[in-house]
Order: sequence, then structure tokens, then C-alpha cells
Amino acid sequence: MITTLFTDWTVSDICKGFIYDKNEEKGLFGLDGKLIIQPEYQRNYIYGDGKRDVAVIESLLKGYPLGLIYFVKNKDGMYEVLDGQQRITSFARFVNRTWPFAVEWNGKTRYIDSLDEDDRNRILNAPLTIYVCEGEPSEIQAWFETINIAGVPLVQQELRNASYHGPFVNLARKEFSNASNANMNRWLTYVKGDPRRQAVLERALDWVSDGNIDDYMAKHRDKSDITELKNHFSTVIDWIDSIFDYTGKEMCGLEWGRLYKDYHTKAYSKDAITKRMDDLLGDPQVTNKKGIIEYILSDESKPELLNIRVFDESTKRTVYTQQTTKAKADGVSNCPLCAIGSNANKTRIYKINEMDADHTTAWKKGGATDISNCEMLCITHNRGKGNK
Ligand SMILES: [Zn+2]
Repeated sequence: MITTLFTDWTVSDICKGFIYDKNEEKGLFGLDGKLIIQPEYQRNYIYGDGKRDVAVIESLLKGYPLGLIYFVKNKDGMYEVLDGQQRITSFARFVNRTWPFAVEWNGKTRYIDSLDEDDRNRILNAPLTIYVCEGEPSEIQAWFETINIAGVPLVQQELRNASYHGPFVNLARKEFSNASNANMNRWLTYVKGDPRRQAVLERALDWVSDGNIDDYMAKHRDKSDITELKNHFSTVIDWIDSIFDYTGKEMCGLEWGRLYKDYHTKAYSKDAITKRMDDLLGDPQVTNKKGIIEYILSDESKPELLNIRVFDESTKRTVYTQQTTKAKADGVSNCPLCAIGSNANKTRIYKINEMDADHTTAWKKGGATDISNCEMLCITHNRGKGNK
């Protein structure tokens, strides 16, 4: 790979012919049509938050360097931004006036046109430090992964999009990484994260590939068809909607792909589930509310998912003392289950750290988590009893 350093391009050179796509949230072109600001594999513009974009302009006003920028020179002579796309899009939006934003400068809110002339010129004439690289795509991608450790680090799925860039990623991103997709709100009820940082695309790929995202992307890289990906994703979402009425925060970010796989062949009554969801969400003994969903899907066979409230230390100590005093007087084990057994533990007195508290009447059968329903068992018996 050949790398050449350029220091004579200024902000105003880069902003010449700048085009910004509001819909896709991308800076498209600059440098009088010679620069592709947003190559397909790059992430969308994320600096437009009134903080990071403003910070770029303030740096220029104060005469601070913006840091290194990397371009790739393509075979056709066009340049692509490899690193620096967020900074370039920020200053170009400010300078270009198409999607203007304001900065606070000398105590006033200023747009590019309301800056004093010397301040404005300091921005426009600011020199940039740009490395231009030429080489094979694989070399450039490897490098891209390395240099993006600085700044806002790329998330895993953004790196995958870079590594497997091609028609499949482009189509998939149009569908799943576009925050203004009409389905996005519904999807974000169940999928956690920022679609522009590829969170929805990542889940869609995760579900369709059963966790083997890289294999799947490698296999589909050159295909111009995302039907299977779209179908599987909407199948899972429709399945959730068909079972649950509830759309609260507990529904967001679950392993829906796996839940679909494990439970989609079972039949459920939506009305019964709605009622049960209500009960369990309101049950103060259920401390893991997110566990309720799989608990219900599993026909309530996995109570460990609910993290039923446990007994506090003082309750345990009180019950331990009572049980042990009585056991010693009776000459039997202080574990009531060992005491009725027939092996050597029949008369064993356990220490408190060798025992654990158990609900005498299980939570499922209405047992409370208070001292009247607490029994200390040796660890073996406590485990054996489980949450039945
Ligand atoms: Zn025991």
C-alpha cells in the first residue's frame, strides 16, 4: 500500500460541491466531485447531535487541528474517505449552509454567515492533514479496522459491514439501518439499540443465521437479494405480536431469535398470556421481570428465570438457630430432609454456611418470602428440591 501525505487541501476545498443526503443521513460528495464522503461500507453520519458537530466547528475557530484524515484513491482517480467522514460531514454541513447548524462564538449564536469575516476565513482556510492511500481492498480494509479504533469506535456490526461490503450489505442496510423506515418503531419495541449503529441489522442477521453472522454475510456477500433475511426477521416479529399484547420495556432486547426457535411450534392463548403477564409483572416476589416472557413461553416450567425474591440474612439466621436448637435436643440433623433419611447425615449438624433457605410452600403455590415460609436445608437437599 502506498501512502502520500497532503497538507494543502483546506476546509473550503473539501466543501466545494458538497452534497448531503438528509434522508439517508450521509454526506455524499466533496472536493468538487472528486471525493466520495460516504462509501457504502461506512456508517451513517452520527455527529449531527449538536455536540460533536459543534465541537468540530469550535476546533476550527480556535485554530486547533482536526486530526488525521485518510482518503483512499481508487483506480478511477476518485477519492473515498476512509477515516474522517464524521468530521468532514460536520464542517461541510456548517460551511455549505444546506443543513446549517449554529455554534456559540464570542457570546452569540452564529451560523457561517453571521461569523465575523476573519473567523469565517479561519474555518474556510484551515489546512487539513490528509493521508491518501492506494492499494488492494483487503489491505485497505485491514487498515480501516485499525485506524477506526480512534474517535468513535466502530461497533462489531459496522466492522462486519466493512469486511463484507457489497450488494447484500447495501440492500440490508437500506432495510434495517434506516431510522426512518416505517416499521422501525415496531421493531425497536423488541430490538435494543440504535439502528444507525447497525443494531437492528445485527439482530436480523443473528436470528436468520442462528448466531453465525460472519458465515452468513460471507456466503451472501455478492447476492442482490435479502428476501430470506427480511422474511425471517418479520416472521419472528409477527410471532411475538401474535402471542403478546404487552409492549413494555421488558420486551426489548430479549433473545427473540432463540425464543422463536425454541417455542414457535407451541400454541398459546393470547388472552391467557395477557392476564398472566399482568399478574407476574405485578408480583413483588418476581425480581427479574424480563424473565417473565420465557417463563410464560415455557409453560411456566422454568421458575428460575424469574429470580424469585430470596430470604434475607437475618431471616436465615433466625430460622437456622431455631432449627438447630430443636435438632440438637431431638438428636437428629438440623436439615429436616437429612433427619428423615437413612444415611450417615441423619444426625449431622450443618453449619449455617452449609445450608440454604428454601420456601416451604413454593412461590408457585402462593408461598410468601417471609419467615413463616422459610426452612433451612443442607445445600444438597436445597438444590435437589429446586424451585418445585
Ligand atoms: Zn439435607
